[in-house]
Amino acid sequence: MYPFAIAIHGGAGTITPASMTPEQEKAYKAALRNTVEAGYATLAAGGSALDAVEQAVVLLEDVPLFNAGKGSVFTKDGRHEMDAAIMCGKNLDAGAVAGVRSIRNPITLARAIMDHSDHVFMSGYGAEEFARKHQVAFEPEEYFYDAFRHRQWREVRETDLFVLDHTVDEKFGTVGAVALDAEGNMAAATSTGGMTNKNFNRIGDTPVIGAGTYANNKTCAISCTGHGEFFLRAVVAYDVSCLMEYKGLSLHQACQQVVHEKLVEFGGEGGLIAVDATGEIALPFNSEGMYRASKKQNQETFVGIYK
Ligand code: ASP
Repeated sequence: MYPFAIAIHGGAGTITPASMTPEQEKAYKAALRNTVEAGYATLAAGGSALDAVEQAVVLLEDVPLFNAGKGSVFTKDGRHEMDAAIMCGKNLDAGAVAGVRSIRNPITLARAIMDHSDHVFMSGYGAEEFARKHQVAFEPEEYFYDAFRHRQWREVRETDLFVLDHTVDEKFGTVGAVALDAEGNMAAATSTGGMTNKNFNRIGDTPVIGAGTYANNKTCAISCTGHGEFFLRAVVAYDVSCLMEYKGLSLHQACQQVVHEKLVEFGGEGGLIAVDATGEIALPFNSEGMYRASKKQNQETFVGIYK
């Protein structure tokens, strides 16, 4: 039996400590704690890493505090377009969606693509048609509306700026989960509304296998958050896995090299969560903070926001 473990994130970057009210901090920490403990309970009951990461991401998508599902940021044309991906480390199965609208839980659609189609990656209208066929839940446009996100968007909508949900004070982002189950299988899942005022049909790193999301039982499971354009070009998640597989680095060494050296030199702000086959967890970020939580078998729950 493997020492099962789970880690989650709610985006790299945070409200600065000075402007975070105690109520806000409490709300974020409670959402992170509840989510990681729910995923942990699934693993403790013998559930798979794949089910635990999907469940954790669904819970975070349903909380408007985070930029995924309900509470997703606004695109340049004032709508919500969501990206998500899930990957199974046992057989390298993967499912991903980009630019979907009105899907309550994009991660569930990514899972349905993985489980019920011969494809890996679907986008836009075709992905939504697939969702209808597979009874994936839809919500009206208003469901995704969040007054705070709308204000963020109004501040930049007349410009060509597209802003990371966490580069400006008071911002937070993408959600993700990674897990190792008792059978030794790993999985990763990530979901996002992307970046505020992004061009419509812009796709970030989140749903791209190897960039924002990756899992392989040989090495690790990874879910990223940060400025997607940089994470795409640096193929971040796969890079961590490759450093372990080909160079024999440990999880922590590989994460250090990618997040604190390569990405920093490159200008890529953000972080990631990772777990390896021994249940070791790494939560590195080069931004001001990263909403994060983890729980290893028979250990206390860890919840963190700042460095
Ligand atoms: N990586 C996401 C994107 O670029 C944003 C985030 O992590 O908040 O779409």
